[in-house]
Amino acid sequence: MKRLKYYLLSVVFVSTAVFTQAQEKEQVKTGHTNNNKFKQLYDEFATPNMYRSASGAPGSAYYQQQADYKMDIVLDDKNARIAGYETITYTNNSPDQLKYLWVQLDQNVRAKDSKSPLIEESNVRPVMRPNEFASKFMKKPLERGFNIQKVVDVNDKPLTYMINRTMMRVELPEPLETGDKFTFSIRWWYNINDHVKENGRSGYEYFPKDGNRAYVIAQFFPRMAVYNDVEGWQNSQFWGRDEFALPFGDYEVDITVPADHIMEATGKLLNRKEVFSKEMMKRYEAAKKSYKKPVFIVTQEEAEAAEKGFSKQTKTWKFKAENVRDFGFATSRKFIWDMMAVKIGDKDVMAVSLYPKEGNPLWEEWSTKAVASTLETYSRMTFNYPYHKAVSVHAKQQGMEYPMICWNYGRPKEDGTYNDRVKYGMMGVIIHEVGHNFFPMIVNSDERQWTWMDEGLNTFLEYLAQQDFGEKYPEALSPQHDKFPSDRGPAHLIVPYMRGNQDYMAPIMTKGLNTYQFGNNAYGKPATALNILREAIMGHELFDYAFKEYANRWMFKHPTPEDFFRTMEDASAVDLDWFWRGWFYTTDWVDIGIKDVKKFYVSSKPNKFIKDLVNERGGNINDLPPLVYLVEEGGEDFSEDMKTKSLLENSTPLKEYIMDNFTPAEQRQIKTPKFFYNITFEKPGGLVMPIIVEYTYADGTKKTEKYPAQIWRKNDKEVSKVIASEKEIISIVIDPNLLTADIDTSNNNWPRKEQQSEFEKFKSKVKQ
Ligand SMILES: [Zn+2]
Repeated sequence: MKRLKYYLLSVVFVSTAVFTQAQEKEQVKTGHTNNNKFKQLYDEFATPNMYRSASGAPGSAYYQQQADYKMDIVLDDKNARIAGYETITYTNNSPDQLKYLWVQLDQNVRAKDSKSPLIEESNVRPVMRPNEFASKFMKKPLERGFNIQKVVDVNDKPLTYMINRTMMRVELPEPLETGDKFTFSIRWWYNINDHVKENGRSGYEYFPKDGNRAYVIAQFFPRMAVYNDVEGWQNSQFWGRDEFALPFGDYEVDITVPADHIMEATGKLLNRKEVFSKEMMKRYEAAKKSYKKPVFIVTQEEAEAAEKGFSKQTKTWKFKAENVRDFGFATSRKFIWDMMAVKIGDKDVMAVSLYPKEGNPLWEEWSTKAVASTLETYSRMTFNYPYHKAVSVHAKQQGMEYPMICWNYGRPKEDGTYNDRVKYGMMGVIIHEVGHNFFPMIVNSDERQWTWMDEGLNTFLEYLAQQDFGEKYPEALSPQHDKFPSDRGPAHLIVPYMRGNQDYMAPIMTKGLNTYQFGNNAYGKPATALNILREAIMGHELFDYAFKEYANRWMFKHPTPEDFFRTMEDASAVDLDWFWRGWFYTTDWVDIGIKDVKKFYVSSKPNKFIKDLVNERGGNINDLPPLVYLVEEGGEDFSEDMKTKSLLENSTPLKEYIMDNFTPAEQRQIKTPKFFYNITFEKPGGLVMPIIVEYTYADGTKKTEKYPAQIWRKNDKEVSKVIASEKEIISIVIDPNLLTADIDTSNNNWPRKEQQSEFEKFKSKVKQ
């Protein structure tokens, strides 16, 4: 008899185990084992080496090239023309011998023979405005692009060079060995574009009312390309949208402009006393001590007076910048100028704004404060801002960044009024572009190749900086807002993109030039992915430490995507390969739902499962050992009185077991759950994510549980969880705070919400 008991018992457990195994096998068979979403990223990643270590840090043999510039620049305001003579000293820190150098000629993107317009598709549009029509079909190409007058060595001896569109190859008289420097000079000029009419990231805006131009000048000099261990020469052509890859260097730049111009530029102003009036010097000293609000260096009244001058005299402004990857400047007699100090660590940094009267009253109110606030947030999240100033320049339709200086849009109407869109747009773009000082100006990633490495990381921090700004300056917000209305960052804001047409989507790991929906792909999605990582997966402490580690490891260096991915894992002990793979290498989306919830009670009476088994094996039900039976509410083994009894009242074998095996003290400590829920979660979405579940109990209390993403590792479609609870669960919600960008929340509730099923009915009606 004993033997039979044991036999039956083993049958019970063996058949349960076989049942589970069969289920697993079925899943493996139907799943694509080669596309396992938890497979490590070895295939996609470059192999770590002496230059880039497996930890994501710069390797022991990491190197980077250096390009130092001395430039003399002359602006011809009358003809909107700029000319320069530059001397580049290039240091080869690579282990390779170089036969030639590549120099970027970005202005050639606007040259008559530019191929950029040729790669844009065009179609006849049945209706056009006259100005559109004229500019499209009747305009002669303008004389734009670089005029390279000479390329010479230190002895003024011509060097052989070849121009391939936006790239110039300069032949070296002798190969440049490791550690050696080569100095050469280029004389050039070009006609400056009207950036409002002709587009472009730099140029001038013409103001017909007063006949002045405001210049925001960048990509204006032949710039060294990057040479490194991952690309060799980064000489991928500039088509217009894709941004830049530039080496660090020191700059000495003299810029000659009309004497009545006001200027800001990358770098320290060396001859302030020569270009400032005594009054301006006094104001400047005051601004250095003003931490609460900006001090005017040039007032609106003074700027308006200057607009009428058109001086024939010139002035030379001298700047020096160390360890920057680029140089930009803004100049006009229209500029109003204000600045204030902001404490970053133990240093004072100047937050600065430059804007024509057309930017007011918005700009004098908020630009400089937005600059200062941005430096504080970004410094907290990365490293202390290392430069001495950050400048925001108002330029129509521009949003573009350079070291220490950036161009920003946001212009009130002529009567000085503006709506929320203009106001928040202006604040948002200033925070974004000032933020670019950190990524990619200091953490110097390759923008031409990886747009997301600067735009995504920067948009993520921009969101945090916008929220900080709104908290610091609640008076900047409109009455209906209690926080800054950021349009990117929070997970739910990316949902419309993620559930969009897959034909117009590309993985984040796509070169910016070649992607669809540029803004969502390179800004919104990576920024949101990082926010999700911080809010829903890693938590603030682990994320912030690792993100800061990445910023500090790669400050003033050139990181690659792997360096970022690896560092985030290396510094946190969170395995994130599945996350990078899903969010960065695919266009999958998140959709997790509750498929089914079954409620069980325990019982002493043999249930149908065991009865069937015993019948099948030819045993006697009375020979069974004491067992705990689980019966589903409403099922054939269920009886209403189970609801009213406690756990131990419902199961005599369990009660006896507890009495026999636990001391009275232990018995008082044990849990006695009464309700048993078998919850099946489904995952129609391709992305694996943690399941964040909020359980609400009959007494009104709630409990949130997070099942790590690895719960999906063996079954990508559905998983189950048993919840043993002392209290009855009355509702279950997945992702209650919308932290995961779940694209369909209609399956996130149990019981299903009535209005959602109504909506589903409506949807299916519409489909028919
Ligand atoms: Zn940007």
